[in-house]
Amino acid sequence: MNLVIELAALGVLAAMIFYVSFLFFTTFRSSQLIAEVAASEQQLFQTRVADILQKSAVERDKNESSWNGFRKFEVAKKEPEGGGICSFYLRPHDNRPLPPFDPGQYLTFRLDIPGERKPVMRCYSLSDSPKPEYFRVSIKAVPPPRDKPDVVPGLSSNFFHNEILEGTILDVRAPGGHFFLDTSKHTPVVLIGGGIGLTPVMSMLNQIIESGSTREVQFFYGVRNADEHVMKAHLEQVAAENENVTLHICYSSPSDDDVFGKDYQHAERVSVELFKKVLSSNNYEYYFCGPPPMMNSLFEDLRKWDVPEENINYEAFGPATVKKKKEADAATDTGTGAATEATFEIEFAKSGRKVTWNPDIGSILDFAEEHDVDIDFGCRAGNCGTCITAIKSGEVDYISEPGEKPEAGSCLACVSVPKGPLVLDA
Ligand SMILES: Cc1cc2nc3c(=O)[nH]c(=O)nc-3n(C[C@H](O)[C@H](O)[C@H](O)COP(=O)(O)OP(=O)(O)OC[C@H]3O[C@@H](n4cnc5c(N)ncnc54)[C@H](O)[C@@H]3O)c2cc1C
Repeated sequence: MNLVIELAALGVLAAMIFYVSFLFFTTFRSSQLIAEVAASEQQLFQTRVADILQKSAVERDKNESSWNGFRKFEVAKKEPEGGGICSFYLRPHDNRPLPPFDPGQYLTFRLDIPGERKPVMRCYSLSDSPKPEYFRVSIKAVPPPRDKPDVVPGLSSNFFHNEILEGTILDVRAPGGHFFLDTSKHTPVVLIGGGIGLTPVMSMLNQIIESGSTREVQFFYGVRNADEHVMKAHLEQVAAENENVTLHICYSSPSDDDVFGKDYQHAERVSVELFKKVLSSNNYEYYFCGPPPMMNSLFEDLRKWDVPEENINYEAFGPATVKKKKEADAATDTGTGAATEATFEIEFAKSGRKVTWNPDIGSILDFAEEHDVDIDFGCRAGNCGTCITAIKSGEVDYISEPGEKPEAGSCLACVSVPKGPLVLDA
């Protein structure tokens, strides 16, 4: 009997010890977990504070060292890249510091080209990450259109290639534009450059790796073949040295000398079908720049693949075709697109012309040209400001967000359409 009581007492004692140990362990583990959560929240908080501080320091530097109007830059180096592309390294002639810029932004140049009655304005994306010493742009010499081989080749691009030498002084506006990478984010990105559209995404890539960010980057570069494949060694080195960067070189028509797996990874154009094959999901932020057919198909197919519109960022080097199509589609869907369905008059006061608006022609600039009304233009993408036209009466809508908002009472003719009857000082 005594033995039974002793065993029972021992059992109770063991249970109590177990219970006390359990309480002790869970309390210890909870405080450990609380400490871990607190530490990770503190780290997150510190990262956010660092991001905000860095952002405000960058903003301060931008404000302090930016400029209004045009500033003189000297071409410090001119470097052929192959594929009809040449890079120009620009140093400020006044030797004052350069402002930082957001990777993806561009410079606007004012060129005095002999034989032209007015200065020629053109935009060129910054093709390297922000550097204190120089800006770099990379320019493709534009030939005549294939179906019009007899017309003059691209004015500004060929002037850069043929006439601009090391030591030439150029008039340059401060970096601008809305197509840029949000460098405070750490979310995965897909960067896509088609042909010369490589330039802004190259700046984004360089900024990511130079900042030490481990953000996942899937980098797609589409060209015809090795003849057009520029900055090859640099891209390969970046991919080899940064495991967060994956390079996808796409040749649409590789030549016999091009080596699959070495020179290029995909014998096809950059497309959403390709993304479906090589990306783990659609859950990325997309930034792309390239020729109009690529821009249109990527935008539409990314939307069809359920990529939210806020995750799709793009820039056209020519007329803003993606946006135009979006606006046209929206107007057709809702039936509310006044500019696309109404019949009303546009008056070009200086030229003494009144014409019925035709939405199929495109922007006010396209429409003016169609009717032989002379409006100066530069980029045809709402960026350079050359086509600013005073509005005498009426209102306009923008088919693409302008790089620089014009003053009230004027419009950027290349990216605007009338809302109703309009009188322009042109
Ligand atoms: C934001 C932005 C960033 C850009 N970034 C870059 C960049 O990084 N690198 C780059 O290389 N480009 C870039 N561009 C494009 C660049 O601004 C110019 O548009 C490009 O260099 C062509 O300009 P151009 O003066 O050489 O050609 P243009 O003189 O404008 O001629 C364009 C085409 O029209 C043809 N043409 C001329 N006259 C006629 C005629 N009468 N009839 C029919 N066709 C004619 C020409 O032969 C040529 O093929 C960018 C554009 C924008 C808007």
